[in-house]
Amino acid sequence: NERINHLRNKYRIHVNGSDVNEPIVSFDGLDVDRNILDNIEKSGFSTPTPIQMQSIPLMLAKREVLCCAPTGSGKTLSFLIPIVHQLRQPQRVGFRAVILAPTRELAKQIHRECLWMSNGTGLRVHIIKNVNLAQKKFGPNSALMYDILVTTPNRLVWLLNQKPVAINIENVEWLVIDECDKLFEDGFRDQLSVIFQSCGKSAKVNHAMFSATHDIQLEKWAKLNLDNLVSVVIGGKNN
Ligand code: ADP
Ligand code: MG
Repeated sequence: NERINHLRNKYRIHVNGSDVNEPIVSFDGLDVDRNILDNIEKSGFSTPTPIQMQSIPLMLAKREVLCCAPTGSGKTLSFLIPIVHQLRQPQRVGFRAVILAPTRELAKQIHRECLWMSNGTGLRVHIIKNVNLAQKKFGPNSALMYDILVTTPNRLVWLLNQKPVAINIENVEWLVIDECDKLFEDGFRDQLSVIFQSCGKSAKVNHAMFSATHDIQLEKWAKLNLDNLVSVVIGGKNN
């Protein structure tokens, strides 16, 4: 469709996949929780960035995505907005979204942004600061007090490898891998397969991967491991 192609050309949005949703050009009229729209408005952001234009409608449609867009282009909100919308309100079933980041510093930033975007929804966002404390907190009997987890893969895998398992992520609906190019660098694939298995035990999990660089290996991996992948690249072909 010509109008959609024109939009994608204008914002340099390259997509690859079947039945890719139309990009949104404005936050007004975005069909998400009122609280989210209020939070966006309070932040003073008037229009979505190109990656947000394309990834928000895709994730709202529960599509699995690999999104590549330059540093500073607003990737964090492109996954937080659809996740906060879909989790809607607290439920006592434990974590329903897990966001993985390569470093503690980045995890802290995402945690802050997530607290802010979920303001008014009552959703409870947690970051693992100390695995020993977490082990007590998330044990089988007390895992119900949070909805969203932000963590490095190290910490999560450590908890998953305890006997008995020290954290329950069986009800996770969304697994986000931020800065996934960095995460693939050092032995992360094994950690990721532990996390994928634990998440997918009792429900279908949707996966979303974000990166600043577009890497062929990454895309191959995502095509193999994600379901009906849509890949989105913003900018020039090689960024
Ligand atoms: P990335 O993860 O792509 O490097 P971030 O998500 O950290 O980028 O966002 C970079 C900055 O842009 C942040 O300060 C963020 O608050 C801001 N930002 C995000 N979305 C928008 C928007 N739609 N309009 C203006 N600024 C935005
Ligand atoms: Mg980022």
